[in-house]
Amino acid sequence: MPERVVQAMSQPLIDHRGPQFAALLSKVTSGLKEIFKTVGGRILLFPGSGTGAWECCIVNTLSPGEKVLGCVNGHFSDLFCKTATAHGIDVERLEVEYGAGVPAERIEERLRRDRDRHIKAVLLVQTETSTGVTSDLAEIRKAIDAVSHPALLLADVVSSLGCSDLRFDDWKVDVALTAPQKGLMLPPGMALLAASERALEANRSAKCARSFWDWRPVLESNAAGYFPYTPATALLFGLSESLKILSEEGLENVFHRHARLAEACRRAVTAMRLNLFAKNSAQYSNTLTAVAMPEGLDSDTFIDHTLKLVDLPLGKGLGKVKGKLFRIGHLGSLNELEILGVLAGIEMALESFGVKIPLGAGLAAAESYLLETAKKRSPL
Ligand code: PLP
Repeated sequence: MPERVVQAMSQPLIDHRGPQFAALLSKVTSGLKEIFKTVGGRILLFPGSGTGAWECCIVNTLSPGEKVLGCVNGHFSDLFCKTATAHGIDVERLEVEYGAGVPAERIEERLRRDRDRHIKAVLLVQTETSTGVTSDLAEIRKAIDAVSHPALLLADVVSSLGCSDLRFDDWKVDVALTAPQKGLMLPPGMALLAASERALEANRSAKCARSFWDWRPVLESNAAGYFPYTPATALLFGLSESLKILSEEGLENVFHRHARLAEACRRAVTAMRLNLFAKNSAQYSNTLTAVAMPEGLDSDTFIDHTLKLVDLPLGKGLGKVKGKLFRIGHLGSLNELEILGVLAGIEMALESFGVKIPLGAGLAAAESYLLETAKKRSPL
């Protein structure tokens, strides 16, 4: 999280029903539209988190008893689907091996068989933070179009927005939902969504019970420059600043920086003779790298060891992959020296944990890649 964001959040609060607030809301909304790459989509902001954004998406677009196709390729997509089930949605789970991306052809095949158009929506997570895999949303859109199926495309972009490309309009996403604590470089505490015209139409007939999460009163109040409740103003100050930072760097440059640091990290992991958990190089996430723990070792114990040794918090394996992997985050405001520090810490921790690695090889691989690509640091 950049210091500028911390500073912005520390400024004195303003009246959330006054003219200054209306200007802040308008700035934040138009900045987010650029990040989501949408002109016609509506931005909806709530106090909450990514988990709240799942619920917000579901209760506003669906009715109990309706069928959806839920793509499950990791812990977060599993929870997204379970949120829908909790609201009485009939979720048909399209189970995908953890470590793989959501296969567009399987979605196409399933929708092709849905002749009576019972499936109302396709649910998926663009970047599965539990496995370090990014699915190809553009291909998934093509698959839905290939069979001219009217299902809504409801996508969790929690750990992809602001880290890798998302084209809300071009890919005809109907709801893209996120949280601020990843690519947007803020503290947690919000649920952010973009909704298409079709999603707003679905909202008008959706029967799931909702009150706080209801889009309608929010859109009505937003039109007048405020919210129907007390908003998280300090977070909106922070968001306004982080959008400014992203725009100064340029979104495509931000993606390029993430791609470069992520590739350095992957090369380092391979040079440490460890295996990436993601199966297919075309689906490697530029947000984080999941590393398979060597056979016979527990990754939770290794993560505790790393924290004690070098004060480096690695991500744990979640759900089905608990104890089997550790995750290196390389998102947000990160630079070369920071990722090199992380990689050095991991090498020290592995060595002292008893994993036989060529000490320094990972760091050397990352350094040479960063040097090799230093001249073309950004497309500008
Ligand atoms: N979706 C994805 C892809 C996530 O990575 C996370 C959290 O890391 C969530 C949803 C849940 O978000 P939150 O923890 O803000 O509720």
